[in-house]
Formats: sequence, structure tokens, C-alpha cells
Amino acid sequence: MRASQLLIPTMKEDPADADVASHRLMLRAGLIRQVAAGIYTWLPLGVKVLQRIQEIVREELEASNAQEVLMPVVQPASLWKESGRWDEMGSEMARLHDRHDNEFCLSPTQEEVVTDLVRREIQSYKELPRNLYQIQTKFRDEIRPRFGVMRSREFTMKDGYSFHLDQDNFNATYQEMHHCYSRILTRMSLKFRAVDADTGNIGGDNSHEFQVLAESGEDLIAYSTESDYAANVEKATTLFPTERPAPGTAELTRIDTPDAKTIDAVAQLLGADATQCIKTLFVDGVADDDNSEAPAPLVALVLRGDHELNELKTEKLAGVASPLKMADPARIKAAVGAGIGSLGPVGLNTSASLILYVDHSAAQLTDFICGANTDDVHFTGANWARDSALADEQIRDLRNVIEGEPSPDGKGVLAFARGIEVGHIFQLGTKYSDAMNATVLNAEGRQQTLIMGCYGMGITRLVAAIIEQCHDDNGICWPDSVAPADVHILGLNYGKSAEVTAASDRMYDTLRAQGLRVLLDDRKERPGIKFADADLIGIPHRVTIGDRNLKNGEVEYRRRTAADSELMTPDAVLARLTA
Ligand code: ATP
Ligand code: MG
Repeated sequence: MRASQLLIPTMKEDPADADVASHRLMLRAGLIRQVAAGIYTWLPLGVKVLQRIQEIVREELEASNAQEVLMPVVQPASLWKESGRWDEMGSEMARLHDRHDNEFCLSPTQEEVVTDLVRREIQSYKELPRNLYQIQTKFRDEIRPRFGVMRSREFTMKDGYSFHLDQDNFNATYQEMHHCYSRILTRMSLKFRAVDADTGNIGGDNSHEFQVLAESGEDLIAYSTESDYAANVEKATTLFPTERPAPGTAELTRIDTPDAKTIDAVAQLLGADATQCIKTLFVDGVADDDNSEAPAPLVALVLRGDHELNELKTEKLAGVASPLKMADPARIKAAVGAGIGSLGPVGLNTSASLILYVDHSAAQLTDFICGANTDDVHFTGANWARDSALADEQIRDLRNVIEGEPSPDGKGVLAFARGIEVGHIFQLGTKYSDAMNATVLNAEGRQQTLIMGCYGMGITRLVAAIIEQCHDDNGICWPDSVAPADVHILGLNYGKSAEVTAASDRMYDTLRAQGLRVLLDDRKERPGIKFADADLIGIPHRVTIGDRNLKNGEVEYRRRTAADSELMTPDAVLARLTA
């Protein structure tokens, strides 16, 4: 590639409205240009990177026995209505009509189309399992497209779907895809974690996200310092104590606490630590289906004073309304006799209309402080068994994890890091095959519903994620495996100096003949501009050819990530680059 013939519109200054390094650098290095909010054109160097990423993805997927297909971006509404997602997807899905007024959408994902394909084309267990993937454009009308191609509206995704008859067979493929994703990201030299995640609107039972660690990441993950345990913070679990606490010794004492409505205020007033207090929140329960007259129960949730309620975990508890809704203060007052700020578990009469759950960390406390269910009064010296008996099933994991607490697998402690989700694999179970009646004949000759998995990877987002991890103050530092070229030759005074021109062309031809990807800066630009652009574009190896060094039979070689360059003969450079 000769720079003089390529569209590489580099920019000297940081563009406005680019908040993260990858977005800034992708614009400055001339990889992308914005067309509309969240919609981009990819320029030649950007396309090279995309192609290299896709090559790695294809190689690893084929090695894992997945087969490439190509499904349409424009999809009929009828399939989405069958799965029920036409209504569920809301305004993130772009919809359109054809000239006959038939409804279509721009594909945000492809479960419906692939399930339709498989139910038509696969009839027997003998043809299973099948693992189909594509690399295709997706459109999602994101509320807040931002960070360039990291969260765009039009983007390229690798999406794969597998089909099975039995769970063990599915599990093997899921594991294989887990390994495959790890191999792909490792080949891109990325630091990443596979985390236990929530399934969102794709649905299904279980899922893992592949998070590239980066300060600018939108997700917060908790991981063990000593094991593979990692989860989105909202999903991370806490280590259950194996034993209940020894009984406390203090006496239960009522204390007036006027104006102390928060844990901090109560703790300060009583000279205690927030970890010695408990807080009690009330949320709505689910109404009893059989008795529509009865109001929905109230659910009391008890946490240690310094802990935060985790909505995701709480919503899943029996009797709790989902989505979680804080209870009306007037209802709480009527049921318990006190307002928010003076609530507690002592003397709460649990019944069909009042359910109580206690986080296990709160259940471990002895001689604790809690609201007395009388306005402006608290108890000190409260103890569970004596003052408020708990059944085992009331003690649950209700809270967000905090940094430094033991990892739930008992190995190491939890640390937090920000991550960019570049991949997501799901166990879909029979969600789509049930809804769309995708069955095959099993070995006994009966129709059986297919079990599905789905596996997404953001190809365009990966480019941004790689740059987030691999850049310095001067520009991008591409990992070798995805760089738009292997070697950047800077011909200083190219075109004017016959020696430089001849030596640069010779180096260019020789390296290319060895199978290397080479970018030759043959532009009529000042050396300073060539150096700055080379740093910005970030090709791993740089060879600078100038008159002064050529007189001594030398050129300058520098690795993009090295602090200094070395003077070498052209032959020595060739030997190093082709070793
Ligand atoms: P997010 O939580 O970031 O919105 P998601 O859960 O909606 O992601 P999936 O539906 O699992 O994403 O899509 C698979 C992959 O596609 C993601 O892991 C991500 O890499 C990529 N992706 C999703 N949305 C976008 C987007 N708006 N722009 C670029 N890539 C995206
Ligand atoms: Mg999303």
C-alpha cells in the first residue's frame, strides 16, 4: 500500500465530541468517519483491521466446527410476531414497510430467521448438532449511541446459533464456544474476563459475557484475585457463611432517636458503625392469583447498614414483584406502625400479607441496631434468634458485592474492574424453538423440540476495544495480529532524493515479496508529519529511510511500542522482520 494513493485522512487535533481514546484515535488516524449519529463509514485502514479481525474469528469458529451462512438484514415481521418479539423489542428495532405495505424490520439479531431456517431444513436427530454463524450488519436504534463504533446504531456482529436435542450435547458446544471466544480474544492480545451475566431481552437461562478490561468500559465487573470467578457486579454472588452466629449477649434496649432517619444519622447518634446497624426496606409483593380481592403482600428486606440492595437478585425471590417496586410509605405505616427511617425486623408479624427476607450478612450480626417500628425509636442490642426468629429460607443473598470481600467460590477476594462487552454467549433452552415450533424427529421417531444456544461477538466494537487497551499518548499501538499493516516504511524526502526513493522502493518490494503487509509513506510531506502520522496509525514495525543514515548504509528501525529506535543496515532489518 502506498500512502500517496490511499485515503488516510489523519487529523492533527483531537476532534470535538469524542470522549474516549478509541473514538478520538479512530477519527484522527483516519479509520472511520461519522455519517449520522451512531452510523459510520469505514475508510481503507479501518477496513483492513476489520478484515483481519474477521479472519481470526472465522478461523477459530471453523476450528470449533461452526459453519458460515449469510442471513438477510431485512426481515419479515411475521417471524418476529411468531416469537413474540415484534412487540417486545420496542423502539430499539427499526421497522419499515415495503411497497405492498408488508411489515419488515432491520435485524438487531437473528434468532427468528435462523430458527425458521432450521425448522424447515433439519428434520432428523441424525443431522444434529448444527452450529451456524454469520458476520453481518445489525441495526439497533440505541437511545444513546456513543463512543464511536463502541455503541453505534449500525454495526457488524458475528452471530452464531447452535441446535441440539439433548442438554449434554448442548453443554459441550457451549463450552466449545467459550473456549473459541477465549482463543479469539487471546489471539488479539486482549486482557479479558469471561463473566457470568444477565440474559437481557435475548432471554434464556444462563449467559457469559466476554469483557475486555478497560477504564472506559460501560460495565462494572467483579472478579476473584485468585480464581476464574468473574461476574457483572449486578450478578456477582456473595459467599454464604457456613454457620449461623453465636447468640449475642446485649440486652434489647429501646432508644429515642429523634431526627435520625438514615443509617449514617443513627450510627452517628449512637456512636456505632454502619456495619453494626441493619436497614429494612419494603417492596411490593406479588398478588395471589387465586384471590384477586386480597392486596399484594408487602415484602420486608433486611440488609446490613453499609450494604446496598441488589434489584436483580431480589426480583427473583418468591413473592417479590418484578420489576422491583418500593412499597408505598402509607401502606408501610398502616401495616407496621412506623414510617421509613424507623423500621426493623423485631416484632414484625410475618404472614401471608407480610414476607420477610434477610441478607445473610445481616443475619450474621449480633447485638445490632435496628428500627423499632415506632417513629423515632431504635433498638440496640438486638439479636436474631431471641428477638426475631428466622427460618433458613428467609436468609438470602440480597445485596451488591463490595470490593475486597471474599470471592463466592472461597478463593481470593473480589476486585472490581471496568469492561467493554465484546462477546456474549447464551443458553437459550427452548425459548425460540417452542415459540416457533422447531422440532425434529428423535431416535424414537417422535417430534422433539430443539435446544438452542446463541453466540454474539461485536466485530466493529472489537476494533474500539482493542484500541482502548493498546494506545499511548501519540496514537494507536496495534497488536501484530490485527494491525492494518505489519511494517510502515517512512521515506523521508521520498520523490526528491533518488537514494531514499530507490532504497524505500527496494525495502517495500522485498518485504512484500516475503508476504508482509507494508505501508509505504511516499507522500510529499515533512518528516515531522510522517512521524506523527506513523505514531497515530500505530503499525507495529517502522522503518525510517533518510539521506543522512543512508550515507552510512543504515536505516532506522523502531517497534511502535519501543522507546527508542535502532540504526541497522537494510539487510539486518529484513532479517529481523522476516525471521
Ligand atoms: P450491550 O449490553 O452493550 O448493549 P447487548 O447485550 O445488547 O450489548 P448482544 O445482544 O449480546 O449485546 O450482542 C452481541 C454483541 O454485539 C455484544 O457483545 C457487542 O459486542 C455487540 N454490540 C451490541 N450492541 C452494540 C452496539 N450498539 N454497537 C456495537 N456493538 C454492539
Ligand atoms: Mg444492547
